[in-house]
Amino acid sequence: KQSMRLDKLLAHTGYGSRSEIKALVKHGAVRLNGKPVKDSGVQVNPERDQVTVNGETVQYREFIYLMLNKPQGVISATEDARERTVLDLLDEQYSHFAPFPVGRLDKDTEGLLLLTNDGKLAHQLLSPRKHVPKTYFAEVEGAVTEEDGESFREGVTLDDGYVTMPGRLTILRQGDPAAGIVSKIELTIMEGKFHQVKRMFQAVGKRVVFLKRISMGPLLLDEYLLPGEYRELTQEELLQLQ
Ligand code: URA
Repeated sequence: KQSMRLDKLLAHTGYGSRSEIKALVKHGAVRLNGKPVKDSGVQVNPERDQVTVNGETVQYREFIYLMLNKPQGVISATEDARERTVLDLLDEQYSHFAPFPVGRLDKDTEGLLLLTNDGKLAHQLLSPRKHVPKTYFAEVEGAVTEEDGESFREGVTLDDGYVTMPGRLTILRQGDPAAGIVSKIELTIMEGKFHQVKRMFQAVGKRVVFLKRISMGPLLLDEYLLPGEYRELTQEELLQLQ
C-alpha cells in the first residue's frame, strides 16, 4: 500500500469528514509517529506509520464489505444522472471507500446486494465459470407448476435464444389465477443474465410481479435488514466468501 493523505486515511477509518478531521488536527488530537500533526494533508504510509487520535491507534483497512437489502426504486450502479443509486443509501463513512455493487439487481428488485471495493473478490463471485448460485424469492402471476420446475431443470430458451443452465424451483404456494392469488416460489440459478428470472418465467408464459434475492453463494440476506438497510459482513461471512 502506497502513502496517502492523512485526512483521507482518517476519513476512511471513520473519524469524520475532512472538516471534522481538520478540527481534530487543529486541537492537537492527531499524532503521527508520536508527534502532533500540524497539516491534515501530510502524506502517511498506513503500513509503516503509526497514527493516533486522542491516543487511540488508527487501524487502517483497505477493503469494506457491506450487505445491503436493496429496496425497490434504486439502481445497482455507482452513478446515474437521474436515478438514485445504491451508493446514495450509504453513510459517508462507507461511501469514502468507493464500494461498488457485486452484480446487478433490477430497479424493481429487492434483496441481497453485496457492496465492496475488493475487486478481486467481486471478480471471483461474478465469474461465469464459478457458477455461484443465487436464490430468488418471487411472486408470479398464475399457477406455477412442477412442469415449470422440470422446464427450469432442463433449461429454457429465453427471448434472445439463450438456453439457461439448470435452475432449481421450489413452489412455496401455488397461485390461483381465477381467485387472483399469485404463486410464491424460490428459484436458484447459477448464472446471471440480464433480467434472467423474469425472462425464465416469461419463457414458460408467466409474469414475475415481485422479486427479491435472498442468497448469493454462501451469503444469506440478513432477515433483520429492512429494505434500504445495510451492515458490514461478519468475519465469518467474509471467510465463507473467500
Ligand atoms: N433476475 C431478474 O429478472 N432480475 C433481477 O434483478 C435479478 C435476477
